[in-house]
Amino acid sequence: MVYFLKMQNTNFFESFIENLFNGKFLKNFFLSQYTSFRCGGKVKYLIFPETIDEVKKIIEISKKYKKDFIFLGKGTNVLVSDNGFDGIVISSLKMKKKTIEENKIVCECGLEISEILNICIKNFLTGLEFLSGIPGTIGGAIKNNAGLKTKWISEKITYVEYLDVENLEIIKKERKDIYFDYRRSGFKNEFIWKVEFLLEMEKQEVIKKRIREYMKERIKKQPIGYSAGCIFKNPYPYYAGELIEKCGLKGYKIGDCHISEKHANFIINNGKAKSKDIYSLIEVIREKVKEKFNIDLELEINLIGDFQ
Ligand SMILES: Cc1cc2nc3c(=O)[nH]c(=O)nc-3n(C[C@H](O)[C@H](O)[C@H](O)COP(=O)(O)OP(=O)(O)OC[C@H]3O[C@@H](n4cnc5c(N)ncnc54)[C@H](O)[C@@H]3O)c2cc1C
Repeated sequence: MVYFLKMQNTNFFESFIENLFNGKFLKNFFLSQYTSFRCGGKVKYLIFPETIDEVKKIIEISKKYKKDFIFLGKGTNVLVSDNGFDGIVISSLKMKKKTIEENKIVCECGLEISEILNICIKNFLTGLEFLSGIPGTIGGAIKNNAGLKTKWISEKITYVEYLDVENLEIIKKERKDIYFDYRRSGFKNEFIWKVEFLLEMEKQEVIKKRIREYMKERIKKQPIGYSAGCIFKNPYPYYAGELIEKCGLKGYKIGDCHISEKHANFIINNGKAKSKDIYSLIEVIREKVKEKFNIDLELEINLIGDFQ
């Protein structure tokens, strides 16, 4: 009887999703195709809402039928379990609306960093060049306060509008009322919807030159290949990459992935790595750094699914 009710529940849930989001979802889909690490298992539904009302609807239905849900931007800061995720993944990639007024840009979370930099050039706006080469969306960048060692995206925003998933209310918060620190923010389960950036006017050639310079630095230091950027946060006052290098781990390999020779805080999937191999490398690094320096490294990337 319990089994029957559970099945019926699942069928109702699936027919709701499939009717409401017809043409806007992928079913039983490998998430590896939507992450920069290019590994990870299947997800039941990967849905691409186009409006905040659609996001609300998905959450409402998921809650009603007790299904787990998570948010995903460009998937450049995540490691997805080989077992996938038994729930709904809500992608922001179709939410890219924006308005530009004088020196302010208001944009939705799915706009990519490269896209906002092009908007900046076109509209003579400076202030975000330091984000050049970061491959994610604005939503993902706000969630983890992306940036460089000392320059973070949060410094350029005036407010964020987000969806509180508990009561499905949209809340607007000024930056001063949001917690931001190095690679972290006060956002936990909320859906980050809209952001306002306050920028300054500048000549296009100057903006382009700054972008070129940031890109040049990045190319010099960063390895090429399937990765999720830096794996660990820098444990102040140290650099995670240096600690890993001093443990002699550069080039260390498990399965088809290895610790980059160019930057030891990067793990590279050579093409056929499993998420469990990447996770095993993470564990080796943590163990060796703890043993040698008595420092607990904290993940910068976000884990999706089960890794036990
Ligand atoms: C080659 C490379 C270089 C990188 N360099 C840098 C760097 O220099 N600095 C840096 O900070 N990062 C860097 N990154 C990491 C990554 O690109 C950034 O953190 C980026 O901002 C993540 O955006 P995303 O859209 O890919 O987020 P995702 O990986 O999709 O998601 C990251 C987290 O944010 C959450 N999330 C995404 N969208 C939303 C939303 N709308 N609302 C609520 N939660 C959301 C997800 O649930 C997840 O927990 C790099 C990554 C790569 C692959």
